[in-house]
Amino acid sequence: MPEKKQFVATPEAKAQAKQLRLFALLAWAAAIAGEVFAILKLLHNDMLTWLIVATVVILALSITGSLLWKKSNRLDPASEKDKFRFFVQNQLGAIIAAVAFLPLIILIFTNKELDGKSKGIAGAIGIVALLAAGIVGTDFNPPSIEKYTDEINAQTDSVKTLNHGVDLVYWTPGGEKYHLFQDCQHIKGREIHEGTVQQAWEERKIGDNELCKTCERRARKQLEAGETPAAEPVAEPAGQE
Ligand SMILES: [Zn+2]
Repeated sequence: MPEKKQFVATPEAKAQAKQLRLFALLAWAAAIAGEVFAILKLLHNDMLTWLIVATVVILALSITGSLLWKKSNRLDPASEKDKFRFFVQNQLGAIIAAVAFLPLIILIFTNKELDGKSKGIAGAIGIVALLAAGIVGTDFNPPSIEKYTDEINAQTDSVKTLNHGVDLVYWTPGGEKYHLFQDCQHIKGREIHEGTVQQAWEERKIGDNELCKTCERRARKQLEAGETPAAEPVAEPAGQE
């Protein structure tokens, strides 16, 4: 009977995610500090150039934070069970984008120190920055523990189908995909690790994983031709679940 595998972020993945989250929060804090500075000091006609520079800097910090934050969520995803937390954790970048730009945009348009032309220029740049930061900050395909668990089980099944019932794959530490053949052209001559599909997911810590297409085609061909399996079935050591 096939056991259901459960995705668990490794302690290393969790530690790495924590570090990325810290850097993301620092970048976002700097973005909001930049916004406060712009509101307090730059809302004057003769500061228009600096207001635009500040908007661009806030945008860069906001996007940097969002990219780090998204990566951390792929290393250590949230559970879908707590809907509110799941939403906030995955869409925090978009929320921060609103915090970093909306007050500034509102104050640009309502400020008495700025003339119409300056309001138009600074306001338009602010809105474009808000949209860009909002889009980068939104996670359109948010990772979750449940999604990864389902993926691991589905991919383990398909690897077993291709591999004569054996859950054994190969990968290189920095590689994008995992492989069925140790001598696949894409990993040949590099540092190769081996293990189950689940181990490939957990050790590689990149979130989304998939099987190398070259290996998949080769395995299908072998299956159709009834040739030797990609990996010889090995007796599982006693005590392994
Ligand atoms: Zn391959």
